[in-house]
Amino acid sequence: MSRPISAPRGTRDLLPEDGHAWSRVEGIARDLSARYAFDRIETPLFERIELFSRGLGESSDAVEKEMFRVSGAAGSEEERAEWALRPEPTAGIVRAYLEHGMHVRPGPQRLWLIGPMFRYDRPQAGRYRQFVQWDVEVIGDPGPMVDAEIIELGQRFYTESGVRDVVAYLNSIGDGECRPAYRAALIDYFSAHDDRLTDDSRRRLRVNPLRVLDDKELDPELAAGAPRAIDHLCDACRAHFTSVQALLDDLGVHYEIDHRLVRGLDYYTRTTFEFYVAGRRGQQQALGGGGRYDGLAELLGGPSTPGIGFGIGIDRTVIAAEEQGVSSGALALLVAVVAADPDALAPRLRAAGTLRDAGLRVRADGTSRKLGKQLESAAKLGARWAVIVGPTSDGTVILRDLVASEQRELPLSEVAAAIGRG
Ligand code: AMP
Repeated sequence: MSRPISAPRGTRDLLPEDGHAWSRVEGIARDLSARYAFDRIETPLFERIELFSRGLGESSDAVEKEMFRVSGAAGSEEERAEWALRPEPTAGIVRAYLEHGMHVRPGPQRLWLIGPMFRYDRPQAGRYRQFVQWDVEVIGDPGPMVDAEIIELGQRFYTESGVRDVVAYLNSIGDGECRPAYRAALIDYFSAHDDRLTDDSRRRLRVNPLRVLDDKELDPELAAGAPRAIDHLCDACRAHFTSVQALLDDLGVHYEIDHRLVRGLDYYTRTTFEFYVAGRRGQQQALGGGGRYDGLAELLGGPSTPGIGFGIGIDRTVIAAEEQGVSSGALALLVAVVAADPDALAPRLRAAGTLRDAGLRVRADGTSRKLGKQLESAAKLGARWAVIVGPTSDGTVILRDLVASEQRELPLSEVAAAIGRG
Protein backbone atom coordinates (compact mmCIF):
# COMPACT_ATOMS: atom_id res chain seq x y z
CA MET A 1 0.00 0.00 0.00
CA SER A 2 1.32 3.46 -0.79
CA ARG A 3 1.74 6.14 1.84
CA PRO A 4 -1.44 8.17 2.53
CA ILE A 5 -1.38 11.81 1.40
CA SER A 6 -2.09 14.50 3.96
CA ALA A 7 -3.30 18.08 3.55
CA PRO A 8 -0.57 20.71 3.00
CA ARG A 9 0.95 22.19 6.15
CA GLY A 10 -0.98 25.18 7.47
CA THR A 11 -4.26 24.24 5.80
CA ARG A 12 -7.36 22.82 7.41
CA ASP A 13 -10.18 20.61 6.26
CA LEU A 14 -13.57 21.87 7.35
CA LEU A 15 -15.22 18.71 8.64
CA PRO A 16 -18.98 18.18 9.06
CA GLU A 17 -18.80 18.59 12.85
CA ASP A 18 -17.51 22.15 12.36
CA GLY A 19 -19.55 23.05 9.31
CA HIS A 20 -22.58 24.22 11.21
CA ALA A 21 -20.60 26.71 13.34
CA TRP A 22 -18.93 28.05 10.17
CA SER A 23 -22.22 28.40 8.33
CA ARG A 24 -23.72 30.27 11.26
CA VAL A 25 -20.88 32.82 11.39
CA GLU A 26 -20.69 33.20 7.61
CA GLY A 27 -24.47 33.60 7.53
CA ILE A 28 -24.24 36.51 9.96
CA ALA A 29 -21.58 38.14 7.76
CA ARG A 30 -23.73 37.73 4.64
CA ASP A 31 -26.79 39.03 6.40
CA LEU A 32 -24.96 42.08 7.77
CA SER A 33 -23.49 42.79 4.32
CA ALA A 34 -27.04 42.96 3.00
CA ARG A 35 -28.38 45.03 5.90
CA TYR A 36 -25.57 47.56 5.51
CA ALA A 37 -26.31 47.79 1.78
CA PHE A 38 -23.08 46.26 0.50
CA ASP A 39 -22.97 44.57 -2.91
CA ARG A 40 -21.13 41.34 -3.53
CA ILE A 41 -17.90 41.29 -5.49
CA GLU A 42 -15.63 38.37 -6.33
CA THR A 43 -12.10 38.69 -7.62
CA PRO A 44 -9.63 35.97 -8.67
CA LEU A 45 -7.80 34.02 -5.98
CA PHE A 46 -4.56 34.85 -7.78
CA GLU A 47 -3.39 38.17 -9.21
CA ARG A 48 -0.24 39.58 -10.76
CA ILE A 49 2.56 39.77 -8.20
CA GLU A 50 3.01 43.41 -9.14
CA LEU A 51 -0.46 44.24 -7.82
CA PHE A 52 0.64 43.21 -4.35
CA SER A 53 4.17 44.60 -4.47
CA ARG A 54 2.84 48.00 -5.60
CA GLY A 55 -0.27 48.02 -3.45
CA LEU A 56 0.88 46.44 -0.21
CA GLY A 57 4.50 47.61 -0.39
CA GLU A 58 7.70 45.72 -1.22
CA SER A 59 8.72 45.76 2.43
CA SER A 60 5.47 44.40 3.86
CA ASP A 61 5.72 40.90 5.34
CA ALA A 62 2.92 39.79 3.04
CA VAL A 63 5.03 40.59 -0.05
CA GLU A 64 8.55 40.09 1.24
CA LYS A 65 8.17 36.82 3.12
CA GLU A 66 4.70 35.36 2.77
CA MET A 67 3.81 35.42 -0.91
CA PHE A 68 2.46 32.18 -2.33
CA ARG A 69 3.73 32.31 -5.90
CA VAL A 70 1.87 30.69 -8.77
CA SER A 71 3.48 29.75 -12.05
CA GLY A 72 2.03 28.59 -15.33
CA ALA A 73 2.23 25.14 -16.89
CA ALA A 74 5.68 23.74 -17.65
CA GLY A 75 6.88 25.05 -20.98
CA SER A 76 4.32 27.87 -21.06
CA GLU A 77 5.21 31.55 -21.30
CA GLU A 78 4.18 31.91 -17.67
CA GLU A 79 6.31 29.03 -16.41
CA ARG A 80 8.17 31.53 -14.26
CA ALA A 81 5.96 32.70 -11.37
CA GLU A 82 4.01 35.74 -12.47
CA TRP A 83 1.13 35.55 -10.08
CA ALA A 84 0.56 35.11 -6.38
CA LEU A 85 -2.36 33.75 -4.40
CA ARG A 86 -4.03 36.73 -2.79
CA PRO A 87 -2.75 37.45 0.73
CA GLU A 88 -5.55 39.96 1.28
CA PRO A 89 -8.55 41.13 -0.73
CA THR A 90 -8.32 44.94 -0.87
CA ALA A 91 -5.71 45.27 -3.62
CA GLY A 92 -7.70 42.95 -5.91
CA ILE A 93 -10.96 44.77 -5.22
CA VAL A 94 -9.46 48.19 -5.93
CA ARG A 95 -7.85 46.74 -9.08
CA ALA A 96 -11.31 45.54 -10.21
CA TYR A 97 -12.86 48.91 -9.28
CA LEU A 98 -10.37 50.72 -11.51
CA GLU A 99 -10.40 48.14 -14.31
CA HIS A 100 -14.19 48.31 -14.64
CA GLY A 101 -14.44 52.09 -14.28
CA MET A 102 -16.68 51.67 -11.26
CA HIS A 103 -16.09 55.28 -10.19
CA VAL A 104 -18.72 56.39 -12.74
CA ARG A 105 -21.42 54.40 -10.95
CA PRO A 106 -23.61 56.35 -8.55
CA GLY A 107 -22.47 56.86 -4.98
CA PRO A 108 -19.53 55.37 -3.15
CA GLN A 109 -19.19 51.66 -3.94
CA ARG A 110 -19.94 49.39 -0.99
CA LEU A 111 -18.53 45.94 -1.69
CA TRP A 112 -18.18 42.68 0.23
CA LEU A 113 -16.74 39.21 -0.23
CA ILE A 114 -16.06 36.10 1.81
CA GLY A 115 -13.23 33.90 0.61
CA PRO A 116 -9.86 32.30 1.21
CA MET A 117 -6.61 34.26 1.60
CA PHE A 118 -3.14 32.74 1.44
CA ARG A 119 0.03 33.61 3.34
CA TYR A 120 3.16 31.52 3.38
CA ASP A 121 3.79 32.04 7.07
CA ARG A 122 4.96 29.66 9.79
CA PRO A 123 1.76 27.78 10.70
CA GLN A 124 0.60 27.58 14.30
CA ALA A 125 -2.67 27.63 16.25
CA GLY A 126 -4.78 30.46 14.82
CA ARG A 127 -2.32 31.10 11.98
CA TYR A 128 -2.89 29.20 8.78
CA ARG A 129 -1.52 29.36 5.28
CA GLN A 130 -5.04 29.38 3.94
CA PHE A 131 -7.74 31.13 5.94
CA VAL A 132 -11.07 32.80 5.26
CA GLN A 133 -11.85 36.49 5.55
CA TRP A 134 -15.07 38.42 5.42
CA ASP A 135 -14.13 41.64 3.76
CA VAL A 136 -16.03 44.90 3.27
CA GLU A 137 -14.79 47.93 1.36
CA VAL A 138 -16.27 51.39 0.78
CA ILE A 139 -14.57 53.07 -2.15
CA GLY A 140 -15.12 56.74 -2.96
CA ASP A 141 -16.11 58.03 0.48
CA PRO A 142 -13.58 60.23 2.29
CA GLY A 143 -15.31 59.84 5.69
CA PRO A 144 -15.27 60.34 8.64
CA MET A 145 -18.83 59.03 9.04
CA VAL A 146 -18.12 55.87 7.04
CA ASP A 147 -15.04 55.14 9.19
CA ALA A 148 -17.27 54.98 12.27
CA GLU A 149 -19.93 53.01 10.39
CA ILE A 150 -17.40 50.34 9.34
CA ILE A 151 -15.99 49.97 12.86
CA GLU A 152 -19.51 49.76 14.27
CA LEU A 153 -20.31 47.08 11.65
CA GLY A 154 -17.34 45.01 12.84
CA GLN A 155 -18.48 45.31 16.45
CA ARG A 156 -22.03 44.36 15.51
CA PHE A 157 -20.73 41.27 13.72
CA TYR A 158 -19.00 40.02 16.89
CA THR A 159 -22.06 40.83 18.99
CA GLU A 160 -24.37 38.91 16.65
CA SER A 161 -21.84 36.06 16.50
CA GLY A 162 -21.96 35.86 20.30
CA VAL A 163 -18.27 36.75 20.81
CA ARG A 164 -18.18 38.92 23.93
CA ASP A 165 -15.83 41.68 25.14
CA VAL A 166 -14.48 42.65 21.72
CA VAL A 167 -12.59 45.94 21.70
CA ALA A 168 -11.79 47.98 18.60
CA TYR A 169 -8.22 49.30 18.96
CA LEU A 170 -7.88 52.48 16.99
CA ASN A 171 -5.18 54.80 15.69
CA SER A 172 -4.60 57.35 12.97
CA ILE A 173 -1.34 57.15 11.04
CA GLY A 174 -1.83 60.37 9.06
CA ASP A 175 -1.47 60.86 5.33
CA GLY A 176 1.03 61.97 2.69
CA GLU A 177 0.94 65.45 4.22
CA CYS A 178 1.93 64.63 7.80
CA ARG A 179 3.41 61.14 7.73
CA PRO A 180 6.87 62.15 6.43
CA ALA A 181 7.51 64.22 9.59
CA TYR A 182 6.27 61.35 11.75
CA ARG A 183 8.55 58.90 9.95
CA ALA A 184 11.46 61.24 10.52
CA ALA A 185 10.61 61.49 14.24
CA LEU A 186 10.53 57.69 14.51
CA ILE A 187 13.86 57.34 12.70
CA ASP A 188 15.46 59.90 15.07
CA TYR A 189 14.06 58.20 18.15
CA PHE A 190 14.80 54.59 17.29
CA SER A 191 18.22 55.34 15.77
CA ALA A 192 19.20 56.84 19.10
CA HIS A 193 18.24 53.51 20.74
CA ASP A 194 19.57 51.28 18.01
CA ASP A 195 21.22 48.91 20.52
CA ARG A 196 17.83 48.03 22.05
CA LEU A 197 16.21 47.04 18.76
CA THR A 198 15.81 43.51 17.44
CA ASP A 199 17.54 42.69 14.15
CA ASP A 200 14.17 42.69 12.48
CA SER A 201 13.39 46.15 13.81
CA ARG A 202 16.74 47.52 12.66
CA ARG A 203 15.83 46.38 9.17
CA ARG A 204 12.31 47.77 9.48
CA LEU A 205 13.77 51.10 10.58
CA ARG A 206 15.53 51.38 7.24
CA VAL A 207 12.66 50.34 4.97
CA ASN A 208 9.50 51.32 6.86
CA PRO A 209 10.07 52.91 10.28
CA LEU A 210 6.39 52.76 11.27
CA ARG A 211 6.65 49.01 11.29
CA VAL A 212 9.14 49.08 14.17
CA LEU A 213 6.08 49.82 16.34
CA ASP A 214 4.55 46.62 15.00
CA ASP A 215 7.47 44.47 16.23
CA LYS A 216 5.98 42.28 18.96
CA GLU A 217 9.44 41.92 20.54
CA LEU A 218 10.00 45.65 20.83
CA ASP A 219 11.23 46.63 24.31
CA PRO A 220 8.00 47.84 26.01
CA GLU A 221 9.74 50.80 27.66
CA LEU A 222 11.17 51.89 24.34
CA ALA A 223 7.75 51.49 22.73
CA ALA A 224 6.06 53.55 25.44
CA GLY A 225 8.45 56.46 24.88
CA ALA A 226 8.18 56.40 21.06
CA PRO A 227 6.73 59.38 19.19
CA ARG A 228 2.99 58.96 18.73
CA ALA A 229 1.32 59.32 15.36
CA ILE A 230 -1.57 61.36 16.76
CA ASP A 231 0.88 64.03 17.95
CA HIS A 232 2.12 64.49 14.38
CA LEU A 233 -1.19 64.68 12.50
CA CYS A 234 -1.82 67.62 10.17
CA ASP A 235 -4.96 69.68 10.86
CA ALA A 236 -7.10 67.77 8.34
CA CYS A 237 -6.06 64.35 9.66
CA ARG A 238 -6.56 65.48 13.26
CA ALA A 239 -10.06 66.81 12.51
CA HIS A 240 -10.90 63.54 10.75
CA PHE A 241 -9.71 61.42 13.66
CA THR A 242 -11.53 63.57 16.22
CA SER A 243 -14.78 63.16 14.28
CA VAL A 244 -14.36 59.38 14.01
CA GLN A 245 -13.94 59.13 17.78
CA ALA A 246 -16.90 61.44 18.47
CA LEU A 247 -19.11 59.33 16.18
CA LEU A 248 -17.99 56.08 17.85
CA ASP A 249 -18.67 57.65 21.28
CA ASP A 250 -22.11 58.63 20.09
CA LEU A 251 -22.80 55.08 18.87
CA GLY A 252 -21.51 53.57 22.11
CA VAL A 253 -18.87 51.49 20.30
CA HIS A 254 -16.21 50.15 22.67
CA TYR A 255 -12.84 51.35 21.35
CA GLU A 256 -9.43 52.21 22.75
CA ILE A 257 -6.64 54.24 21.20
CA ASP A 258 -3.50 52.19 20.52
CA HIS A 259 -0.51 54.26 19.47
CA ARG A 260 1.35 51.21 18.17
CA LEU A 261 -1.35 50.14 15.76
CA VAL A 262 0.15 50.93 12.37
CA ARG A 263 -0.97 47.83 10.41
CA GLY A 264 1.53 46.00 8.26
CA LEU A 265 0.76 47.29 4.77
CA ASP A 266 1.94 50.44 3.05
CA TYR A 267 -1.44 51.46 1.69
CA TYR A 268 -3.03 52.55 4.96
CA THR A 269 -3.72 56.22 5.68
CA ARG A 270 -5.44 57.93 8.60
CA THR A 271 -7.79 55.55 10.45
CA THR A 272 -6.43 52.08 11.34
CA PHE A 273 -8.13 49.57 13.64
CA GLU A 274 -8.03 46.00 14.86
CA PHE A 275 -10.49 43.90 16.84
CA TYR A 276 -9.42 41.74 19.79
CA VAL A 277 -11.15 40.16 22.76
CA ALA A 278 -10.18 42.44 25.67
CA GLY A 279 -7.02 41.21 27.38
CA ARG A 280 -6.18 38.78 24.57
CA ARG A 281 -3.79 40.67 22.37
CA GLY A 282 -1.40 37.90 21.39
CA GLN A 283 0.01 37.64 17.89
CA GLN A 284 -2.51 35.12 16.60
CA GLN A 285 -5.46 36.66 18.37
CA ALA A 286 -6.52 39.57 16.15
CA LEU A 287 -10.07 38.80 15.12
CA GLY A 288 -10.10 41.37 12.36
CA GLY A 289 -8.54 44.59 11.20
CA GLY A 290 -8.71 47.31 8.64
CA GLY A 291 -8.32 50.94 7.87
CA ARG A 292 -8.43 53.73 5.39
CA TYR A 293 -6.39 53.56 2.17
CA ASP A 294 -6.82 56.90 0.43
CA GLY A 295 -3.60 56.47 -1.59
CA LEU A 296 -4.08 52.91 -2.86
CA ALA A 297 -5.97 53.63 -6.10
CA GLU A 298 -3.20 56.00 -7.16
CA LEU A 299 -0.51 53.44 -6.32
CA LEU A 300 -2.32 51.10 -8.69
CA GLY A 301 -2.31 53.66 -11.49
CA GLY A 302 -5.82 55.06 -11.02
CA PRO A 303 -7.16 58.47 -10.05
CA SER A 304 -6.95 59.51 -6.41
CA THR A 305 -9.86 57.72 -4.70
CA PRO A 306 -10.49 57.42 -0.96
CA GLY A 307 -11.36 54.04 0.51
CA ILE A 308 -11.81 52.18 3.77
CA GLY A 309 -12.52 48.57 4.72
CA PHE A 310 -11.85 45.66 7.01
CA GLY A 311 -10.96 41.99 6.82
CA ILE A 312 -12.42 39.84 9.56
CA GLY A 313 -10.98 36.37 10.12
CA ILE A 314 -13.75 33.78 9.99
CA ASP A 315 -11.46 31.00 11.33
CA ARG A 316 -10.57 33.03 14.41
CA THR A 317 -14.14 34.22 14.96
CA VAL A 318 -15.36 30.61 14.95
CA ILE A 319 -12.53 29.67 17.37
CA ALA A 320 -13.34 32.62 19.68
CA ALA A 321 -17.04 31.75 19.69
CA GLU A 322 -16.21 28.15 20.57
CA GLU A 323 -13.82 29.21 23.35
CA GLN A 324 -16.56 31.37 24.82
CA GLY A 325 -18.99 28.45 24.71
CA VAL A 326 -21.31 29.99 22.13
CA SER A 327 -23.75 27.38 20.87
CA SER A 328 -23.97 27.13 17.12
CA GLY A 329 -27.70 26.47 17.41
CA ALA A 330 -29.63 23.32 16.69
CA LEU A 331 -29.88 21.93 13.20
CA ALA A 332 -33.36 21.40 11.83
CA LEU A 333 -34.78 18.00 12.82
CA LEU A 334 -33.74 15.19 10.55
CA VAL A 335 -36.25 12.88 8.89
CA ALA A 336 -35.20 9.50 7.46
CA VAL A 337 -37.12 7.87 4.65
CA VAL A 338 -36.94 4.05 4.80
CA ALA A 339 -38.80 1.13 3.23
CA ALA A 340 -39.26 -2.57 3.90
CA ASP A 341 -39.30 -3.49 0.22
CA PRO A 342 -35.72 -3.52 -1.10
CA ASP A 343 -36.95 -2.67 -4.59
CA ALA A 344 -39.01 0.34 -3.54
CA LEU A 345 -36.40 2.92 -4.50
CA ALA A 346 -38.58 5.28 -6.52
CA PRO A 347 -41.20 5.59 -3.74
CA ARG A 348 -38.43 6.52 -1.27
CA LEU A 349 -37.08 9.25 -3.54
CA ARG A 350 -40.57 10.54 -4.32
CA ALA A 351 -41.51 10.67 -0.63
CA ALA A 352 -38.20 12.41 0.21
CA GLY A 353 -38.93 14.97 -2.50
CA THR A 354 -42.42 15.69 -1.14
CA LEU A 355 -41.06 16.15 2.39
CA ARG A 356 -38.26 18.42 1.13
CA ASP A 357 -40.86 20.46 -0.75
CA ALA A 358 -42.44 21.02 2.67
CA GLY A 359 -39.10 22.34 3.97
CA LEU A 360 -37.96 19.32 5.98
CA ARG A 361 -34.36 18.07 6.23
CA VAL A 362 -34.47 14.57 4.79
CA ARG A 363 -32.11 11.71 4.02
CA ALA A 364 -33.39 8.63 2.25
CA ASP A 365 -31.97 5.16 2.90
CA GLY A 366 -31.30 3.47 -0.43
CA THR A 367 -30.05 0.16 0.95
CA SER A 368 -31.80 -3.19 0.87
CA ARG A 369 -31.18 -3.87 4.57
CA LYS A 370 -34.01 -5.12 6.77
CA LEU A 371 -36.40 -2.41 7.92
CA GLY A 372 -35.22 -2.77 11.53
CA LYS A 373 -31.62 -2.14 10.47
CA GLN A 374 -32.63 0.93 8.46
CA LEU A 375 -34.49 2.35 11.47
CA GLU A 376 -31.51 1.65 13.72
CA SER A 377 -29.11 3.41 11.44
CA ALA A 378 -31.55 6.36 11.04
CA ALA A 379 -31.53 6.79 14.82
CA LYS A 380 -27.71 6.60 14.87
CA LEU A 381 -27.56 9.35 12.25
CA GLY A 382 -29.58 11.54 14.59
CA ALA A 383 -32.94 11.31 12.81
CA ARG A 384 -35.87 12.16 15.08
CA TRP A 385 -38.48 10.73 12.73
CA ALA A 386 -38.62 7.96 10.16
CA VAL A 387 -41.10 7.86 7.31
CA ILE A 388 -41.70 4.28 6.22
CA VAL A 389 -42.97 4.09 2.67
CA GLY A 390 -44.80 1.05 1.36
CA PRO A 391 -44.58 -0.51 -2.08
CA THR A 392 -47.78 1.15 -3.23
CA SER A 393 -47.95 4.79 -4.05
CA ASP A 394 -51.37 5.45 -2.57
CA GLY A 395 -49.86 8.29 -0.57
CA THR A 396 -50.09 6.60 2.84
CA VAL A 397 -46.94 6.18 4.95
CA ILE A 398 -46.02 5.24 8.50
CA LEU A 399 -44.54 8.04 10.57
CA ARG A 400 -42.36 6.68 13.36
CA ASP A 401 -41.11 8.76 16.27
CA LEU A 402 -37.63 7.30 16.80
CA VAL A 403 -37.30 8.74 20.29
CA ALA A 404 -40.67 7.62 21.68
CA SER A 405 -40.73 4.44 19.51
CA GLU A 406 -44.34 5.16 18.52
CA GLN A 407 -45.79 5.12 15.07
CA ARG A 408 -48.96 5.74 13.12
CA GLU A 409 -50.25 5.69 9.59
CA LEU A 410 -51.14 8.89 7.79
CA PRO A 411 -51.12 10.46 4.30
CA LEU A 412 -47.63 11.60 3.19
CA SER A 413 -49.06 15.08 2.61
CA GLU A 414 -49.80 15.37 6.35
CA VAL A 415 -46.37 14.31 7.62
CA ALA A 416 -44.85 17.80 7.73
CA ALA A 417 -47.77 19.17 9.72
CA ALA A 418 -47.71 16.16 12.09
CA ILE A 419 -43.97 16.65 12.72
CA GLY A 420 -44.54 20.37 13.21
CA ARG A 421 -46.94 19.53 16.06
CA GLY A 422 -44.25 17.26 17.58
P1 AMP B 1 -4.74 41.30 8.59
O1 AMP B 1 -5.06 42.02 7.33
O2 AMP B 1 -3.43 40.58 8.56
O3 AMP B 1 -4.90 42.14 9.81
O4 AMP B 1 -5.83 40.15 8.65
C1 AMP B 1 -7.17 40.42 8.99
C2 AMP B 1 -7.70 39.29 9.82
O5 AMP B 1 -7.59 38.05 9.13
C3 AMP B 1 -6.92 39.05 11.11
O6 AMP B 1 -7.36 39.90 12.13
C4 AMP B 1 -7.20 37.61 11.40
O7 AMP B 1 -8.46 37.44 12.04
C5 AMP B 1 -7.28 37.00 10.02
N1 AMP B 1 -5.98 36.41 9.66
C6 AMP B 1 -4.90 37.02 9.16
N2 AMP B 1 -3.89 36.15 8.93
C7 AMP B 1 -4.36 34.94 9.29
C8 AMP B 1 -3.80 33.62 9.29
N3 AMP B 1 -2.56 33.39 8.83
N4 AMP B 1 -4.58 32.60 9.75
C9 AMP B 1 -5.83 32.83 10.20
N5 AMP B 1 -6.41 34.05 10.22
C10 AMP B 1 -5.70 35.09 9.78
